[in-house]
Amino acid sequence: MYEGAIQDLIDELGRLPGVGPKSAQRIAFHVLSADPADVNRLAGALRKVKDLVRFCTTCYNVAESEQCRICRDPRRTDEVLCVVEEPKDVVAIERTGEFRGRYHVLGGAINPLEGIGPDNLRIRELMTRLGGGAVRELILATDPNTEGEATATYLALMVKPMGIAVTRLASGLPVGGDLEYADEITLGRAFEGRRAI
Ligand SMILES: [Zn+2]
Repeated sequence: MYEGAIQDLIDELGRLPGVGPKSAQRIAFHVLSADPADVNRLAGALRKVKDLVRFCTTCYNVAESEQCRICRDPRRTDEVLCVVEEPKDVVAIERTGEFRGRYHVLGGAINPLEGIGPDNLRIRELMTRLGGGAVRELILATDPNTEGEATATYLALMVKPMGIAVTRLASGLPVGGDLEYADEITLGRAFEGRRAI
């Protein structure tokens, strides 16, 4: 529709999740008329996130060093491990202030339709961590949708024979939804009311 650089920017923005063609166009023209210092800051932030951010070698949360802030925190307990799908779920649970244990980020959920099986997730790494013997309770905080439930069921079957208590967040979370969209109070209550499975 436009030529050259502005169309390139619209195309790139349009590839981002949740950004439709109209939004892409609006953002592109906003950038065009914005203060150069603001645009440089945005460009710098984009570059920096790729240069500096990596995955924690222990829990696979996002980190700026070998281990993430949560894994480095000596005040947290190693006895309770909470399994989530994505780093954004760690943020959602941290916001509730209910949890003082550690996390394990799977990197998704089992989804046969999209060809994602247990081997595509960080399940082997989870088993290695559990083999260390420190964990007493494993909280399965995968999303309350079909894929999340399937992943939780799969993990429960694998982990229960190891003699570790396995719990799932209580009901009250919107079914079929995404953990990150639950408000802090609902998610906090679901955490407190977690049940054995
Ligand atoms: Zn970590």
